[in-house]
Amino acid sequence: MAASFWLRGAASGLRAWSRRQRPAAASLAAVCSRSMASKTPVGFIGLGNMGNPMAKNLMKHGYPLVIYDVFPDACKEFQEAGEQVVSSPADVAEKADRIITMLPTSMNAIEAYSGANGILKEVKKGSLLIDSSTIDPSVSKELAKEVEKMGAVFMDAPVSGGVGAARSGNLTFMVGGVEEEFAAAKELLSCMGSNVVYCGAVGTGQAAKICNNMLLAISMIGTAEAMNLGIRLGLDPKLLAKILNMSSGRCWSSDTYNPVPGVMVGVPSANNYQGGFGTTLMAKDLGLAQDSATNTKSPILLGSQAHQIYRMMCAKGYSKKDFSSVFQFLREEENL
Ligand code: NAD
Repeated sequence: MAASFWLRGAASGLRAWSRRQRPAAASLAAVCSRSMASKTPVGFIGLGNMGNPMAKNLMKHGYPLVIYDVFPDACKEFQEAGEQVVSSPADVAEKADRIITMLPTSMNAIEAYSGANGILKEVKKGSLLIDSSTIDPSVSKELAKEVEKMGAVFMDAPVSGGVGAARSGNLTFMVGGVEEEFAAAKELLSCMGSNVVYCGAVGTGQAAKICNNMLLAISMIGTAEAMNLGIRLGLDPKLLAKILNMSSGRCWSSDTYNPVPGVMVGVPSANNYQGGFGTTLMAKDLGLAQDSATNTKSPILLGSQAHQIYRMMCAKGYSKKDFSSVFQFLREEENL
């Protein structure tokens, strides 16, 4: 609440600012020199499930890192590996002119950028700031305006692919921001992902990510319902999955990430729904889709329903399980 207040206040001031002035020639020169830099230190903020392996892939490509996380233990192994650990996002911005943030929510991103010791306190002109967190596109746009005010550049670059893809460097990045800066962003993002896609103006990366995850949530619930119904009708789940996957009902949730235990190996449903993409994160992404749909007056009937289902799952103890546990949730619900 406080943040949205802050953003609204900042937004009106910034709109006036952006009508008055554009980044000075000097800062554009700084942008160019930073874009040409190669193995200068890269700042990384948020070393959690995703940020940890992503930062390690930058290290593998020879980039020295300047690290910060509110949870000091998350920085330990980077410190042991000889990387620089600092005590605030402002310190990161003082030491690096390219920074990647990988944080849970919009509020965390606002804190890391605009908090008392945030990036904006020390950001250098011409710096490139890439936010790979999944957050509200409208927050990305407001942060971009704040960053532009400091003569730096902001891009949103949320990812598709979970911890496995982060480890193997095979994430997909959906990038929004100034097109001229895309090449500089791609230089870093390609160390962590096999697909780096330019989507358009700032906020469009988040838009693409939110749409993808809303569709994923709907198709996962649909797959779980169809599989459960088939099992109740006496079908063998493996056979049913095989038939769906050679028929028009096939989707990623049925052929790559099937939610029914015993149908596939190496997926969360084969491991009591441990690992993978948490139900809490899916509920968060559906909340972002709901907010965006409200803002744009777009009907998302199934998306809203999926949001409620995942929120209910969180309330009933599924928050730490993979989102494919919706199959287990349906089974337990019908036994009530
Ligand atoms: P996580 O909770 O594991 O890690 C986030 C890290 O950020 C934590 O170490 C936390 O201490 C740190 N942090 C929080 N606030 C901070 C702040 N103000 N300053 C510095 N550090 C701070 O989350 P994650 O799974 O790594 O996800 C990160 C983002 O990526 C989320 O937006 C998520 O939706 C998105 N995402 C996750 C997955 C996945 O499979 N986990 C897949 C795609 C996208």
